[in-house]
Amino acid sequence: MTDKPLISIKQKISFAFYIVFAMTLGIGIIALLLSQELKNDVDSLINEDFNKINLALKLAKESQRLKIITTSLENESISELVLNQQLAALTNQWSQLIKTAQMLAKHQLVDEKQELINHYLETLQQAKQQMPVLEQLTLKSANSRKQTQHIHDNFVILQHQFSHEIQTILSDEDDIALATLSNKQYQQLKITLEQHNQLSQLVHIGEALFANISQLAHQDSIPNINKIQRTSMRLFIKMQEIELDEKYQSFKLNWLHQIKTGILGQNNIFEVSREVINSHRIAKKHLNQQAETVSKIDKYTQHFVSDLKRNIYYSSEELKADSTAFMILVFIASFLYTIFIWLTNWHFISKGIIKPVIATSNAMKDIANEKLDTTLPQTDNLELQQMVNSLETLKTYAAQVKAISEIDGLTGAYNRRFFDIRLEQQIEFSYKNKQALSIVLFDLDQFKQYNDHYGHIAGDRCLQQVVEACKRVISGEFELIARYGGEEFVMLLPACCEQEAFKKAENLRLSIFQEAIAHEHNEPHKLVTVSLGVTTYRGITKTKIHNLLKQADTALYTAKQTGRNCTKMYNNIHEYL
Ligand code: GH3
Ligand code: MG
Ligand code: MG
Repeated sequence: MTDKPLISIKQKISFAFYIVFAMTLGIGIIALLLSQELKNDVDSLINEDFNKINLALKLAKESQRLKIITTSLENESISELVLNQQLAALTNQWSQLIKTAQMLAKHQLVDEKQELINHYLETLQQAKQQMPVLEQLTLKSANSRKQTQHIHDNFVILQHQFSHEIQTILSDEDDIALATLSNKQYQQLKITLEQHNQLSQLVHIGEALFANISQLAHQDSIPNINKIQRTSMRLFIKMQEIELDEKYQSFKLNWLHQIKTGILGQNNIFEVSREVINSHRIAKKHLNQQAETVSKIDKYTQHFVSDLKRNIYYSSEELKADSTAFMILVFIASFLYTIFIWLTNWHFISKGIIKPVIATSNAMKDIANEKLDTTLPQTDNLELQQMVNSLETLKTYAAQVKAISEIDGLTGAYNRRFFDIRLEQQIEFSYKNKQALSIVLFDLDQFKQYNDHYGHIAGDRCLQQVVEACKRVISGEFELIARYGGEEFVMLLPACCEQEAFKKAENLRLSIFQEAIAHEHNEPHKLVTVSLGVTTYRGITKTKIHNLLKQADTALYTAKQTGRNCTKMYNNIHEYL
């Protein structure tokens, strides 16, 4: 019995099952946690990073549009109206960009990038703040230009009116008929002609003045405007200097007043033209600043996009590495799990149950096959140990039964039943292998008289002594002595020819003789002797046990007949079988 406490098979299997279940649960939870981690990574890559790159791409697209607008603004020939429309589009674009950048800033970015995006946003805000000033300037420039145009148009009308009035004056005077002129009239005409001359000069200078002013429409530099103004002033002064008589004086003064208002008055055409240029110049400066900011923003955006792309690339690489590590981990875990299950099975099921069951079954088989020297297994299984204990008892019973069925109770030699079975087997073997087999049948001489003389109990003891002597003669696994009946014994000698059998029989006879058991009535030695009959089977033809026993008995009979205490061979009496 083992010292270990006995555990039932049910308990053992349940225990193994619980361990496997716990292990499965553990592995399952670990795998779940790991896969959750991996899922989070994937989600962040898909949601967070994907959004980031989307916003960055949007930013890039918007900054590109910004660039297109600012490039179109740099066009010199663009009108203020179109310019203002473009500026509105630019303001709109800045707002759009700020919105996208703010969305991007909301995403988690590393500190350095957060700083960058804040700076980026600041730049955007500043650029946007510049826009109303720019728009105002452009508007001012547009207004001034409109004003210039208006004044200019007025001048053109003035010029027309001036030419018309002059023409009228001159044509009125032409109607006078020279023939009908009196001296007074002639003098008058002379003066009139002089006045005409003066008027023509006025017209000439006036036209020059208007022509000079009309040049303003195409001027874009202040020195040129100043120059035109100076020329205009000179011409104006010249116009002032022309002397006309009273008749034309009011006409002249009227015109001089109108011209003066246009070129010297408040908001005169030169002043307004200069304002157009100034506003335009400041607006241009602002525009340049905008263009600079735009290219800076474009650079930033590109930086962002490439940075985010790099980030996402690293994230995806990290994800790839994570998923590979996860796969390796799952593989290792599965491998360890398999080993663990195998070990659990081996320990609890194979070593703990199956092996002892097989060992017990083998022991049972051995016992059933009369191998009673088999060792019964030791186990810590409650049920199996109970079986083993029962088997132990059965083994003892079997050994007893076997002894009873094979051994002669008095002498300890094999009994006739056992001998018959063994002889039959040996005959079979001899026939198959064409191998000789011998038997020696022997009988105690004058034993009836021994009993009579020494008593039956002494007779029994004598029989035991004889068997002891016989056992010393037999050798090998298959040679044996059996009690054939009464005081008659038989020796089985497998693989033994006639000569050897005879020798063995003689040894047996001498061995008993040398026991020197006194036998008063067995002449001539007065010792217990035996007579022996030997026969040999050569395995050539088939035979039965009773044939061999009959032959041995015949030889024994001959030995008895020829004086006892001797060995006789059946072969010497008969032909070989
Ligand atoms: P022989 O030399 O011709 O064999 O003469 P014998 O007296 O031995 O004659 P037999 O073989 O016929 O004698 C058998 C005797 O053996 C008879 C019986 O008393 C005795 N005997 C048989 N079995 C036993 C036994 O178990 N115990 C004892 N004490 N005697 C036995
Ligand atoms: Mg006898
Ligand atoms: Mg006898």
